[in-house]
Amino acid sequence: MLDVLVIGGGNAALCAALMAKERGASVKLLESSPKQWRGGNSMHTRNLRCMHDAPQDVLQEVYSEEEFWQDLLKVTGGQTNEELARLAIRASASCRPWMAKHGVRFQPSLSGALHTARTNAFFMGGGKALINAYYRSAKSLGVQIEYNAEVIEIELNGYEFKAAKVRYKDESGEVLREEWIRAKSCVMASGGFESNIEWLKQAWGKNEWGEYPVDNFLIRGTRYNQGVLIKNLQEIHKADMIGDPTQAHMVAIDARAPLYDGGICTRIDCVSLGIVVNKQAKRFYDEGEDFWPKRYAIWGRLVAMQPGQRAYSIIDSKAIGHFMPPVFPGSKAQTLEELAKLIGLDIPTFMQTVNEYNSGVQPGDFDHTVLDNCRTSGVSPIKSHWARKIDTAPFYAYAVQPGVTFTYLGLKTDSQARVYFNKRPSRNLFVAGEMMAGNVLGKGYTAGVGMTIGTAFGRIAGDQAALASKAEYANLG
Ligand SMILES: Cc1cc2nc3c(=O)[nH]c(=O)nc-3n(C[C@H](O)[C@H](O)[C@H](O)COP(=O)(O)OP(=O)(O)OC[C@H]3O[C@@H](n4cnc5c(N)ncnc54)[C@H](O)[C@@H]3O)c2cc1C
Repeated sequence: MLDVLVIGGGNAALCAALMAKERGASVKLLESSPKQWRGGNSMHTRNLRCMHDAPQDVLQEVYSEEEFWQDLLKVTGGQTNEELARLAIRASASCRPWMAKHGVRFQPSLSGALHTARTNAFFMGGGKALINAYYRSAKSLGVQIEYNAEVIEIELNGYEFKAAKVRYKDESGEVLREEWIRAKSCVMASGGFESNIEWLKQAWGKNEWGEYPVDNFLIRGTRYNQGVLIKNLQEIHKADMIGDPTQAHMVAIDARAPLYDGGICTRIDCVSLGIVVNKQAKRFYDEGEDFWPKRYAIWGRLVAMQPGQRAYSIIDSKAIGHFMPPVFPGSKAQTLEELAKLIGLDIPTFMQTVNEYNSGVQPGDFDHTVLDNCRTSGVSPIKSHWARKIDTAPFYAYAVQPGVTFTYLGLKTDSQARVYFNKRPSRNLFVAGEMMAGNVLGKGYTAGVGMTIGTAFGRIAGDQAALASKAEYANLG
């Protein structure tokens, strides 16, 4: 019988498959997408957040365990499991040589890339190159890989994994056959449920204006993370769950992005340099609350709470050069009135908002690389840093909508990546990546931590699954 079955084809699954293989297990990996779309959300990534006590090859200065932990604590508002968070943080100090062994190459962050030179190691060639390297390594080590293979059901005996039901499809998505695959142990790493619009709609419901906010959501990554196994484990097997279905990593992205797979180039990174107004031309949140990497993932949700789930990031020409320019140009005008007209906002209200903001801007020394002293006074909401008057033509506007990166509802786990039922761990069923990220991320996000969690728990899960497949355990179920 197969030793380890790995379900999913992104970073966490590949880390698990490679580790299990290194432990000498026979391993099969099932990826629901066709080969050309393999790699889930991981193929869209650029970096992982790493602690380091001294400068390393591509990482400057020091980023201690404590500082990483404090960053996480702040963005999650304390909704995090400290033991699991610290485990992932510590693992980030030593995982890169292992990643390099499997073909991943790193590069320093480029200037303008979200203040990350100290904290984040960038993948040379991006997440796509990382994924390709891992698949290459997995194939050469003898991991059996199947594409168009969606797992739709798990069979358990008590809390013990027995088999997975796989639906094989052809390239056009037509179902060819269904088959049960048995294995001694299993790692589930098949992402969140962010691609499942119906489920998101059910979770978010209607808002106070009678709208379904999800109608205006865009999914930044893969269409294949439908949450089939999260649902199967939650509803059929009554696994212990973690997280709120409405909590997700959500970014305000270019409203022109496609429904799926718009990826990184749809991000609009000038929010902290200007103001953001909703369809009613009103500001609604402190644009300068903290550094953008620590705040960009709350803006999707903030925009989701606005009427029509649409907002506009407004800057003047002083902001140009201080942020990574979006791929597609914004609306541009020589006057603020003209800009409001271009984007369809009520001109008097827009002018009132900008004038109020401008008159609240206090003198200060602008420095976008630190939490500077440029703030507003007497304006609600406050802008606490990088507040400069919007007064220098040309003016720009970028329309943004909520872009869902990944959901946080998932399976409860522990330091061995075990799945829990009735507060008891399974002997041979493990979980990694987005399917369990909610244990560490109750809410909020800090750039690069998704890959930190997926790499740490993918490796642990693979290791533990290989051990479980070899051990002669009594059935604890
Ligand atoms: C645009 C974008 C940019 C990002 N940038 C970064 C970044 O720079 N740094 C960072 O840390 N994080 C980033 N993230 C978040 C990051 O992608 C995730 O945290 C991480 O990739 C999760 O890895 P995973 O393996 O759990 O999921 P995924 O990589 O999404 O993999 C899930 C896999 O499971 C497969 N699958 C789904 N259902 C089934 C099923 N039923 N049967 C079989 N297979 C199934 C999918 O096809 C997919 O291959 C980004 C995400 C997006 C969308």
